[in-house]
This record gives sequence, C-alpha cells and structure tokens, in this order.
Amino acid sequence: MPRIGLAAARRADLQAPPTPAVPTLTCARCRRPVRRATQPAPQGGGRVLVAVRHWPEGPLCSNCFSLACETYGQCEGCGAHRLVPGLTATGHRLCTDCGGGLGDYICTRCGREGWRQEIGICGRCVLTEHLSVLLDDGSGTIRAELQPFFNAVCAMGRPRSGILWLNKPHVPPNRIMPWPSVRAGAPGWA
Ligand SMILES: [Zn+2]
Ligand SMILES: [Zn+2]
Ligand SMILES: [Zn+2]
Repeated sequence: MPRIGLAAARRADLQAPPTPAVPTLTCARCRRPVRRATQPAPQGGGRVLVAVRHWPEGPLCSNCFSLACETYGQCEGCGAHRLVPGLTATGHRLCTDCGGGLGDYICTRCGREGWRQEIGICGRCVLTEHLSVLLDDGSGTIRAELQPFFNAVCAMGRPRSGILWLNKPHVPPNRIMPWPSVRAGAPGWA
C-alpha cells in the first residue's frame, strides 16, 4: 500500500467536508434527529424537528412531547392515576412530580391536567370554546339537536386532534355539521 506523506494527509484534512454546524441530537423517544431551538435549521438537508423539551431522559421532539401530554395512567413512582408524561429507562410511566418536575400541565380554567393548547389553557377547554361558537344557535347556547355531537367531540381523548381538524382550511363550518338532515335545516349552514 502506498504511504501517504504528512503533507498529503494535511491537504486531505483541509479538503475534508466541514463538520456540520448542527450537532446531532436525537429525540429520546422516537430517535429522530432534533435540534435545539437556538440552532439554525439545516440548509437543504430536510426538516429537523426542534427539541421542545429537555427532560431527564433526553431531548423530546414536539410530536413526542405532545403525545406525552396526552398520556394518562398510573404513575410508577407514586401510584397516582393522572397525567404521566415521564418515562423511566425501563419504559414505565411517571407523573410530572416523580419524573423530576417535567412541568405544570394543570389547566387554569378547568383544573384538569393535560395538553395545554394555549398558555395555561388545556386543549379540552379550547376545543369546547371553538365548538361553542361554531354550533351556537344565535342565543349563546348550542343548538339542541347538535348537543350530542358537541358532547361527543368535547369528550374525545385527544382534544388536540379535534382542534387540528377544526383549523384545517378545507373544513368549512358547514362540514362540521354531523348529519345532512341537520345541515339542510340549519339556517346559515347551507
Ligand atoms: Zn420524538
Ligand atoms: Zn408520581
Ligand atoms: Zn381546561
């Protein structure tokens, strides 16, 4: 094998591609590459999610963080049934207190613990508010025939999905009316 001289090795060093500006971090749960919010997005290398939380288990991408804030069950640490966003190394769920203070997820409006859609306000409260406006009969109350639909949507386990759906541009207000017969008879919803 030909030996590479020191000068040639130095030249090769200089020609080596520069080290990427963004150090490689991976989400502790889904293992996808993530970056710190303060780091610039990579140029031309595809989308890299921002690590929105740095918990004891490691950085979390926005998707895994959202899912964590929608997970309820029994905490491995204290045995309480509540929101269990934390995860032990062995895959057991932990409440925010036993997980090392993972944040405050108690809604300031309804007092329940869960995903916060807005500052201090949980997804369920935001979804309820949006639907209350959309299904209003004009007097500040839900149209009586839509009350079961309203109740069912507001009770969904992951209100974030309902909010995302309502915010889609291709969901015009009349599309959320559940039954064609109701749509046909509802003034303003034709
Ligand atoms: Zn993730
Ligand atoms: Zn606990
Ligand atoms: Zn709430």
